[in-house]
Amino acid sequence: MNKEQGRAILQRLKMKVTPKRLEVMCCLGSEPLYLSADEVWHRIRDRVASVGLPTVYRILDELAEAGVITRIFLADRKQYYFLCANQEHHHHFVCESCRRVEDLGQCVLGDGALDVVQRSGGRVTSHILQINGVCGTCSTPREGTACRTK
Ligand SMILES: [Zn+2]
Ligand SMILES: [Zn+2]
Ligand SMILES: [Zn+2]
Repeated sequence: MNKEQGRAILQRLKMKVTPKRLEVMCCLGSEPLYLSADEVWHRIRDRVASVGLPTVYRILDELAEAGVITRIFLADRKQYYFLCANQEHHHHFVCESCRRVEDLGQCVLGDGALDVVQRSGGRVTSHILQINGVCGTCSTPREGTACRTK
């Protein structure tokens, strides 16, 4: 994602276009990997004057609330973020080894889950679903091409 694309997304959502928001979006949009607030801050702080970690947290929260970025939930309970250009309703497969996030082309929530709610007289308004695991590249041992980034 470049700055122009970031600008277009913010304008479409009627959010103020600020250099800090654009840097955060470009940072997250540069690779299909999830990052923590700390990691985003380390990557952008040399490029943006006077940006502190609390500011990065606030921007990430704002962008997540607006649906620009997605929160990624992992067992370590830390908060991670991922920027996906796909604006349709869909879900993600997250590799816990190399941090790659893949789009699952369509909604993978089966009717069974919705039936349970309907049978009890309830109503589903939205759902969040994230599949964690180890991707094919990380599952295949290959000499000299360790997939781990950290
Ligand atoms: Zn992987
Ligand atoms: Zn996606
Ligand atoms: Zn779904």
